[in-house]
Amino acid sequence: MNYQEIHKLESTYNSGGVGRRPVAIVRGKGSRLWDSEGNEYIDCAGAQGWANVGHSHPVVTAAIQAQAETFVAGQESSYNDQRALWMRDMAGVFKNSLGWSECCIHPSNSGTEAIEAALKFARFSTGRPGIVAAMRGFHGRTMGALSVTANKKYRAPFEPLIPGISHVPYNNIEAMDKAIDDNTAAVIVEIVQGEGGVHPGSGAYFQSLRELCSNRGALLIVDEIQTGVGRTGRWLACEHHQLSPDVITLGKSIGGGLPMGVTAWRSEAGRFKPGAHGSTFGGNPLVCAASRAVIEVMAEEKLAERADMLGAWLVEELQALPTKKMREVRGLGLMIGIELRGKVTPILQKLIKRGVWALPAGLNVLRLLPPLVIERSDLERVVEAIGEVLE
Ligand code: PLP
Repeated sequence: MNYQEIHKLESTYNSGGVGRRPVAIVRGKGSRLWDSEGNEYIDCAGAQGWANVGHSHPVVTAAIQAQAETFVAGQESSYNDQRALWMRDMAGVFKNSLGWSECCIHPSNSGTEAIEAALKFARFSTGRPGIVAAMRGFHGRTMGALSVTANKKYRAPFEPLIPGISHVPYNNIEAMDKAIDDNTAAVIVEIVQGEGGVHPGSGAYFQSLRELCSNRGALLIVDEIQTGVGRTGRWLACEHHQLSPDVITLGKSIGGGLPMGVTAWRSEAGRFKPGAHGSTFGGNPLVCAASRAVIEVMAEEKLAERADMLGAWLVEELQALPTKKMREVRGLGLMIGIELRGKVTPILQKLIKRGVWALPAGLNVLRLLPPLVIERSDLERVVEAIGEVLE
């Protein structure tokens, strides 16, 4: 099908909820994408931040193919070999990265569902109603996740949202100190706010927040849906600050391109009672096989280390660009934000014309989330293209 045909069909039927650029991407391999007309792009968006191991990684593809021929989806109410092995592998990651000796893991089908499970678990285990979230934070679009998301643009049309939620300025421990009380079930934060503009929080902030939550009996939920799976140069971004939260959420890259959300917590926080929470497809054998392959590729190809090394180099290259249109370059690993002195949308369009696919973060931040397998030569082309469009 050509672009006109695809565009006509999708425009006829789409819900209107998602804005699209005038390109139909139909194929991906590694860090490259191709559109319906055969044009090639460097994927500096990691699709939508989910392609940390790259598109169609052969190990992930082989795992999906083999599992598809065996058992795609079972029933929640039965045990399954792939889910068991995946839980063991995932727990190994949490042990290495967070020092959790024992944990409970709840698989679901998306980032927003991982947040729903975290919020429900926090209320369930503490018996308290309140949740404190951060301004500029983004946690998803279902009613619970939207309630902890800060941006009015996403919230306003759907109010009233769930009660008991407050938002305080990010990276401001005094504001958290005032907001967390005996009614607080949990605090939810990102280590680097992604959608909110690529803003990293400080180590001192997270350490103090850890103490506040422990002292007041509130769970600390860290949303690593965007920062996790090596993106920031560590398997989990918490590792930058030796932070061990009570609950962690993963999504995006953890399923290798298949829909998956993960909510995990230290065993000490307890477990749901049977029937308290679940989903038909959460933790199905196909996605668990894909996710096990992702965990294997992350270790085999040392992708977190690669993100650390390439990210540090890329930030320096971008900072050296001779342009007045850039206010600041910031980020962690291969999660990079370029704050512009103007709007980002026209810049994104110009980049597409130069074969580079990137993301916005708010109105004036250009966000780069390339696959961690990307070659340095591709990133050199990206820097060149950004330099040209910011001239
Ligand atoms: N949390 C964070 C930090 C995110 O970046 C996102 C998506 O961008 C979500 C939650 C929601 O994930 P999903 O779009 O898979 O529902």
